[in-house]
Amino acid sequence: MRIPGRKALLHSARLVRSKLVKHGLILGYHRINRLSWDPFRLAVSPESFAQQLEVLQKHANVLPLHELAEARASGDIPPRSIAITFDDGYADHLSVAQPLLEHAGLPSTIFISTGYLGREFWWDTLTSLVSSIDPANPLSVDAGGSKFEWRPESEPGIHGRSTLLASLHKFLMPLSADECLDSLKQLAESSGVIRTEKSDNLAMTELEVIQLASDDLTTIGCHTVSHPMLARLEPGQQRSEVMQSKQTLEALTGHSVNGFSFPYGSQSRSSVQLVEECGFTHACASHNDVVWRNSNPFCLPRIWIPDCTGNTFHKLIRRWL
Ligand SMILES: [Zn+2]
Repeated sequence: MRIPGRKALLHSARLVRSKLVKHGLILGYHRINRLSWDPFRLAVSPESFAQQLEVLQKHANVLPLHELAEARASGDIPPRSIAITFDDGYADHLSVAQPLLEHAGLPSTIFISTGYLGREFWWDTLTSLVSSIDPANPLSVDAGGSKFEWRPESEPGIHGRSTLLASLHKFLMPLSADECLDSLKQLAESSGVIRTEKSDNLAMTELEVIQLASDDLTTIGCHTVSHPMLARLEPGQQRSEVMQSKQTLEALTGHSVNGFSFPYGSQSRSSVQLVEECGFTHACASHNDVVWRNSNPFCLPRIWIPDCTGNTFHKLIRRWL
């Protein structure tokens, strides 16, 4: 007889609890588009997303995130409650995701990193650079007091492009925005890659944020200024990242911005407390779970949705609801 592991037992306990206790679900997306190379699996294709929205229309009670957060606080989460969220603030949200959401008549929240308005996110610059680099050549990058070394000749055979990308991503993620930018410049210079075409991976501009804010079905939320690993920053830097992004978005939209999302899901007890002190009413993290009555409103769990058909998506949400 197979003895169930801890993970399986926890899953079963959660399923039993979900039949007895009111709960909701927050879906996490980054962008809706078709990408030629999507190594971090940030995109859901427009076709898949349209099918997923149809499933939600038929089988869920989709409500704005702030309403789900309020329902949690009152202890009365309506059955099959789901909120749709997007992180980062890609410009294609306006041309691809929003029309599909509007057609389906479903509300959503988009969390925006204000330091990237009109620019390319560092991970997309990195992906683009690595797609043009020959991973058979050695590379080195200095940043933040540490050094990234790529020596493919020492272990031939395992140093493919995907490994190079994953290694550089891991190296760059904890760096400050300036260090990251400098590292990307070093990488471009040392590998001789010159990018001439306009990026397809830009974040929304200020004007696009203003345009999106006028949509009744869309709520704008904060995702810091420079998209750092918040929990690794000094308290003063954390406060400035959180407050500056809130102020910028409130000035642009003319509305109070009450929702926050932690970049990379990076949070600590003090950063969660800081978000509450900065005047937000709720915040999303990135751990997988449903929203319970006793979930911390400043650390709400989310389920990240893959690029999958309506049928697969239906099975996925049924498991959680
Ligand atoms: Zn993000």
